[in-house]
Amino acid sequence: MRVLKFGGSSLADGERIRSVTEVVSQAASADRVSVVLSAMKGVTDLLISAARQAEEGSDGFKTILENIRGKHFDAVRFLFPPADQAAALTPLALMCNELEEILHGVELIRECSPRTLDLLMSFGERLSCQLTTAYMRARGMEAILVDARELIVTNDRFGSASVNFDRSYQRIEARLSAIRGISVVPGFIGATEKGVTTTIGRNGSDYTASIIGAGARAGMIEIWTDVDGVLSADPRVVPDAFVIPRLSYEEAMELSFFGAKVIHPYTMVPAVERGIPLLIKNSLNPSAPGTLIAAADGSEGAGAVGRAVTGIASIPGVSLVNIEGGGMMGIPGFAARIFSVLAREGVNIIMITQASSEHTICLVFRAGEGERALAALNHELTLELETRRIERFELIRDLLVVSVIGENMAGTPGIAGRLFSALGEAGVNVLVIAQGSSERNISFVIEEKDHVPALRTIHKAFLSHA
Ligand code: ADP
Ligand code: ASP
Ligand code: MG
Repeated sequence: MRVLKFGGSSLADGERIRSVTEVVSQAASADRVSVVLSAMKGVTDLLISAARQAEEGSDGFKTILENIRGKHFDAVRFLFPPADQAAALTPLALMCNELEEILHGVELIRECSPRTLDLLMSFGERLSCQLTTAYMRARGMEAILVDARELIVTNDRFGSASVNFDRSYQRIEARLSAIRGISVVPGFIGATEKGVTTTIGRNGSDYTASIIGAGARAGMIEIWTDVDGVLSADPRVVPDAFVIPRLSYEEAMELSFFGAKVIHPYTMVPAVERGIPLLIKNSLNPSAPGTLIAAADGSEGAGAVGRAVTGIASIPGVSLVNIEGGGMMGIPGFAARIFSVLAREGVNIIMITQASSEHTICLVFRAGEGERALAALNHELTLELETRRIERFELIRDLLVVSVIGENMAGTPGIAGRLFSALGEAGVNVLVIAQGSSERNISFVIEEKDHVPALRTIHKAFLSHA
């Protein structure tokens, strides 16, 4: 069995849905196939803004809803002959009516809880799957819509629910093995044991595909998007970026964790566990070979053959908290306290460094989380501040984490030297540096204004074709 996942970029309109169906049809002629779909392009964002408008009591949500309805109805008119359009439109219209009722409820009570927002967002994937399944069937394909809420079991942390793998795998195996045709599963959504709708995090359809693949013990999980594969850097920042033919799971995880949006970082977890390769493909250019993500083969490293560095990724909008003070020196458990207070607040640390003198600890956070971290730390460490064991906290905003990643970096001397001299020559100031002991990743923090020159300089230094 093969799992084919198509993102919003591959489902922008009727024409794109037709191309996707073509790809699925070819795959299904050779193998058993399960298809995982995102919402149509932009629909999740529209659903979120509709919810926010309704919550504020503005009837602007009605215009947004019309936009969502219009996208799906236009696609039906493009895909189906006039005589078949009414039958295809009816289930979509019913779903849009239900969506409108929920939004109206939000408008009345002026409140949209995370639980309600998950229910609202689930309509994006459910609408696109309803539409695409109907089109596949109209083309004579044996497609069956399977509600992801009957397959993916999660906890109730709405917005980024954790998946219960054992329960989900049991259900996926039982349900999908009974389907002979093409199962079409909405990405991004799941449900609690009690059946309450949840979502597993933005961009999460990649992760759904991987869970379905692992549960069904697929031979391959294919992520179809709008670029030819995982590129050596974000193509919008580095025009010379090229497709990496092969990546190890770990490299893919590091690249995606540090900002390569093309694949959700959790996607690799179920795939690694069951040893299933992932293939990143372009639905606009299906004949391109794509990027294969699999276990490192140990020979040439994984990615750009013979190179130390495989790829570069970056996370914009990060902020940094510096904790300074001689009083932290030698106090056991100080770092543990910091971690637990931040964990309690639900703040994720994306990078941490501590100078060996223990005079400063530096923590890096995603956009918007630095302020919360600072408030929580100020509260937790009041006594230390009063007694001057900590001299000061400092929050620096508008920063960028850059990560240079490669299996072959391990044991290759001189990488850090080349990296930081290249940045120095380009006049880029580096605030913090961290390297994991796996030596697969060097990450550092710079000012956001240096984004483009820094990435282009590093790409030229390590990944130029010359
Ligand atoms: P989908 O809708 O298929 O899930 P996404 O928009 O989530 O697609 O991801 C694909 C986009 O990721 C590409 O269009 C590209 O702009 C961006 N991107 C960022 N970094 C990379 C990278 N290293 N390789 C490929 N694409 C990248
Ligand atoms: N539709 C969801 C989002 O926009 C999930 C996905 O596209 O992967 O985040
Ligand atoms: Mg995506």
